[in-house]
Amino acid sequence: AKDGGRNQLQFYTEEMNDRVTERTLIEGHLRHALVRNEFLLYFQPRVDCVSGEVVGLEALLRWQHPELGLVSPVRFISVAEETGRIVEIGEWVLKTACLQAMAWQQAGLAPVPVAVNVSARQFRHAAFVQEVKDALEASGLEPRYLELELTESVMMHNVDVVIAAMSQLKEMGICLSIDDFGTGYSSLNYLRRFPIDYLKIDQSFVRDMLDDPPGAAIVRSIIALGHSLAFRIIAEGVETPEQLAYLKEEGCDEIQGYLCSRPVPEKEAAVLLGSER
Ligand code: C2E
Ligand code: CA
Ligand code: CA
Ligand code: CA
Repeated sequence: AKDGGRNQLQFYTEEMNDRVTERTLIEGHLRHALVRNEFLLYFQPRVDCVSGEVVGLEALLRWQHPELGLVSPVRFISVAEETGRIVEIGEWVLKTACLQAMAWQQAGLAPVPVAVNVSARQFRHAAFVQEVKDALEASGLEPRYLELELTESVMMHNVDVVIAAMSQLKEMGICLSIDDFGTGYSSLNYLRRFPIDYLKIDQSFVRDMLDDPPGAAIVRSIIALGHSLAFRIIAEGVETPEQLAYLKEEGCDEIQGYLCSRPVPEKEAAVLLGSER
């Protein structure tokens, strides 16, 4: 038992070392990623449950590093948040997503809104609303073609300041979504105070919902709650026709997931838009 304990300790220590090393590695490379032009955007369609049409695209950040390869945001977004680098990276995402949406429209493709993920730290940054304005102006994109996805963590600090910033964005004509809904801690009473258009049901609920009755009840409840507050509901991570059928039956408005398409590079996304005309 003593030996086992020692081995275990060693195991955890090594794992922790690995994590520190990985973090340091990512942090170091991340410093140069913007100037070296290593970021790119993938896009995943959002599809209307009733018509089956592509009604939007979510921009998802990718990092193409010469040694690390294509790095998933799961590996670097949290590091970028901790170091504060997310502010400038997020600004790049906003600008690039707006330019891309405008380019598609100018190419004659069906105009649909592009949704951009905004981290809590980026949203709290004092100049955020101005950065959004700048991105729209620089691209010429109409504000109604931009959506911002915020997590519940955004809503947890300085509620009045957050509502003021959200209201400014709404007045500009931008749509707002709550991402990963159900995973954070958001008071239902607060929820109705925020000027929000969409709730995105987190994919963990969608993944489990057909396996057990409580899972299905949670999804049904989120849809009912969201609708009673006049939000549109998007289900994330929809992978099977059975999941789609259940969501349709429960009145979910839109879905996103591998069933329709994985996130794809810009050229493939253009094909998805073109086919909608
Ligand atoms: P998210 O905003 O919840 O994005 C959805 C994630 O689920 C994406 O992972 C997407 O590829 C994945 N996904 C979509 N459909 C399915 C499906 O049917 N099954 C499964 N298993 N997965 C699916 P991705 O692209 O790796 O992004 C992970 C997270 O990184 C995002 O989660 C978001 O929180 C963050 N992220 C991505 N891009 C940005 C960005 O530009 N800014 C910020 N702040 N965060 C970003
Ligand atoms: Ca998202
Ligand atoms: Ca999500
Ligand atoms: Ca997520």
